Amino acid sequence: MKRGKKSDVRFVALGGGQEVGASCYFLQINDAYILLDCGKSPTGSYFPDFRTILKPPFLECLNQINQIFISHSHFDHIGALRDLTAQCRNAGIYATPITKALLFHILWNLRDRHDVSENRQERDEILADTTVRSIIETGYCREIPLPGYTATFYEAGHIPGAAMVYFQTKDRRILYTGDFSCRASALTSPYILPDTITFDTVIICGLHAKHPHIRRGRDPQSQLAFIKQKLERGYSVHLETVQLTKGWEILHTMNEEMWNNHLPLLPVYIDHSLCLLAEEMERMHIPVRRSWNYVGPPPRGEQAVVIGRFAPSRFIPVKVDFSLHPTYRELADFIEKYNPKTVVLVHTGTADTQSKANCLEMELMTKPSWTGHFIYAETGEIYSL
Ligand SMILES: [Zn+2]
Repeated sequence: MKRGKKSDVRFVALGGGQEVGASCYFLQINDAYILLDCGKSPTGSYFPDFRTILKPPFLECLNQINQIFISHSHFDHIGALRDLTAQCRNAGIYATPITKALLFHILWNLRDRHDVSENRQERDEILADTTVRSIIETGYCREIPLPGYTATFYEAGHIPGAAMVYFQTKDRRILYTGDFSCRASALTSPYILPDTITFDTVIICGLHAKHPHIRRGRDPQSQLAFIKQKLERGYSVHLETVQLTKGWEILHTMNEEMWNNHLPLLPVYIDHSLCLLAEEMERMHIPVRRSWNYVGPPPRGEQAVVIGRFAPSRFIPVKVDFSLHPTYRELADFIEKYNPKTVVLVHTGTADTQSKANCLEMELMTKPSWTGHFIYAETGEIYSL
């Protein structure tokens, strides 16, 4: 960048703009071409669309991407990484050590491999392995010096290993939140930013930005009370979860509650996927399982808890589907607290029936200190920030 010239910052949502799935964002800071996350929809059908950035004034090919920052290891933020690594051969890929460990597990161990040939399996494993090996492990709060800017990871809460990414140039401060949480969960603290941090622009996960009336009925505490009641009456319970990290969270919670005598101590059966994840975390010295945890289906007639996708029909099903994202109120408070000039909302759910899509912006406009503006980033649109 020439001396005295203002930083040139441009942004394109390649997926996960005003929708959830395939979160992947292009950020140009001066001459640096950056990708924030590389997701795919959980079914694999929705892939980031690179057409907007593969033409002037941006790139000729994806090899020109300089850095990729991975915020956390949910599939809608990492699913496309394996395919992209081959195309972004010159990019440095940055993630926290826990995200890196979870990544291999999610990119490879969890893929349904029953219907693919052995050759294909081998190729997929090599690709997943190469992708994960190329990741540069990055701890929290350590400034990474890069040509034209610096980047720093901060704890985002949400799931273990999740990070916000903070970018600085000589005249700009930009925060990408990724998915984050404002409350502690069984496995994470709330997000942690330094007291002195400021930013002029935030690219923020706004899942509940259009849901001012959302209720928090399905939080872990209320589900736990329900599970406790059923177990104390002698029933067996099946804790259904499709998202693996939520399975891990509920397993941790059940183990803690049983250990502290808040729940009857019963055998807990987990499925094979959750077992593989537990092994991966235990290799990193993060304990997951206890002596009353088993792998596989429970024996007939025994009162037990099952965590995973399937359980015998005698088990009472409980959908474990609590939100790890900020509520509308928490989002509004976050934005008011940091008071950035520009709020780029991404990863938003559709507006609920009782509210306007821009209700968050309308609320901020009533605050005397608010002078900023909102961008509801549409996938494929170019924004100068
Ligand atoms: Zn997530």
